Amino acid sequence: MLIERSKAASQRSDIRTYKGVGVSPGIAIGRAVIIEKRVVQIYRVPIRDEDVPAEVTRFLESLEKTRDQLHELKAKVSRSMGEEYASIFEAHAMMVSDPSFADKVVQKIEEEQVNAEWALSEVQEELQARFQSFEEEYLRERVADVKDVAERVLRNLQGVAHHDLSEIKHDVIILADDLTPSDTVHFNRRPIVGFATETGGRTSHVSIIAKSLFMPAVIGVPRLTKIVDNDEMVIVDGYEGIVLVNPTPAMIAEYRSRVSRHEESERKLLENRDLPATTKDGRSVSLQANLELLEELDDAIKFGAQGIGLYRSEFLYISKSPDLPNEDEHFEVYRRIVEKLAPQTCVIRTFDLGGKKLAREVIGSKEDNPVLGLRGLRLCMKHREMFKTQLRALLRASAYGDMKIMFPLVSGVQEVRQVKTFIREIRAELDAEGKPYNPDLKIGIMIEVPSAALIADLLAEEADFFAIGTNDLIQYSLAIDRANENVSYLYEPLHPALLRLIKNVIDAGKRANIPVSMCGEMASDPIFAIVLLGLGLENFSMNPSSIPVIKNVVRSVRYKDCRRIAEMALQKRTAQEIEEFVIENVALRFPEGVVGKNV
Ligand code: PEP
Ligand code: MG
Repeated sequence: MLIERSKAASQRSDIRTYKGVGVSPGIAIGRAVIIEKRVVQIYRVPIRDEDVPAEVTRFLESLEKTRDQLHELKAKVSRSMGEEYASIFEAHAMMVSDPSFADKVVQKIEEEQVNAEWALSEVQEELQARFQSFEEEYLRERVADVKDVAERVLRNLQGVAHHDLSEIKHDVIILADDLTPSDTVHFNRRPIVGFATETGGRTSHVSIIAKSLFMPAVIGVPRLTKIVDNDEMVIVDGYEGIVLVNPTPAMIAEYRSRVSRHEESERKLLENRDLPATTKDGRSVSLQANLELLEELDDAIKFGAQGIGLYRSEFLYISKSPDLPNEDEHFEVYRRIVEKLAPQTCVIRTFDLGGKKLAREVIGSKEDNPVLGLRGLRLCMKHREMFKTQLRALLRASAYGDMKIMFPLVSGVQEVRQVKTFIREIRAELDAEGKPYNPDLKIGIMIEVPSAALIADLLAEEADFFAIGTNDLIQYSLAIDRANENVSYLYEPLHPALLRLIKNVIDAGKRANIPVSMCGEMASDPIFAIVLLGLGLENFSMNPSSIPVIKNVVRSVRYKDCRRIAEMALQKRTAQEIEEFVIENVALRFPEGVVGKNV
């Protein structure tokens, strides 16, 4: 719970600029709210004069509750483990009953007019510092007791009606050490206008959601929560990957005018909405949208998506967690999507839970190395009841429109065979119940594990289509955790190994005559898109707002030239060489320019 922010920083007004990685474009301006996720979330909420007595009561009630809990705990421990252990809780209960502890917190609430959680954390910090300074070891050890007690009171405080960010009336920028996808899905509303974190990677799910929510975001700023203070004015520049603290009014004005310029150029880009994604020499590709939240469906349509190439259905679970959606809830969502998109197609990916996405909540145990553990299809096949609920709903929804399903994290042929057998069993069940479904429902797989990419020819005999997931394919083939900022410099989609794997998959798909798409973030970058076009990729799926950018790229190039660029790129030895070569060639071959954000 302890918030180790620097006291010295609290009065600062100096302009500071911190560099991170811009993962979601846009500019957000607001006041900092620091969240330390690795500990418990607490933020400072100013309260009105007349609300102070109620806040004090809220605190005293939680203290009372804590005291009762500790007495109960003491009795229980004493019965099961003996007096010696029970005395720990006796000491804790004494601390809670100590009037000077309660008085200090009450005084803070009253004098600073702040929420009880904040006042408590401040007192906790003072007490811990005091105990820490003692020479006697047994007194220094009390630091852990203070922490324990304060956390218990805090949990009780938060169990009682507690303050939340929606009470803050000005725009807020969240600055956090770490965020999970489920935190981020709740950022969908004011006052939160942007965020920045210490951790994360370009393709971590937190970054992907930020883009879907059109929320400017910067990740990977070291020690961010320690070097910025609550309530400082902050600009998050998601284009440049910059967090600017305490900007001058002139700087704020300049950023606001940049926002208008960007809006204007985005509006211009949207003019191509109804034009085909066809190269100058007549090769057409399809540009589809990735979807995480249902609310994005309108954006996909607005930006001219030709269907949904990836619906990350696990976000259904993430927004409902800790409950699992039941069959009808699944079914309603899928039916709404396919009906709304008709006559276009929608590819729904079954739950890709695990890894960093809530595995612990689903499987109830902690894995040492979850990214290489029970994740995606593996997790679903292990938890068949949960999987069956989703598959039944998917099959039923397939009767309502053009829908395909696909499975994440496939690593070999056997897994595909097993899941197809499972689907056959479920179909037989639905037949027996007289429930309709599409008997020709296409079943595809994600290619995002190097083993799958290498045996794409074998997998093509089992699957109706492939979707290349470069976010994971890069993670697993280059051995870089996609959410770890320390290795994000190694995120190299143009790494020769990657290009070879991608080519292998596209070629295998062509030979077997099955469609191949790409739905990893790589597909939404103009430079990479040129190489992918040249490698023969025909279906690109991306966050909706990138569609007009990539469409302009496609419309300004010749396929013939892209092929040549891709062939030459495959001869190079490093990602840097390839990137430099592609950029040079783009400038040479397309002197009139390729309209795109990174070009
Ligand atoms: C991928 O891995 O590229 C992908 C699209 O799936 P996700 O980002 O959800 O893991
Ligand atoms: Mg993936």
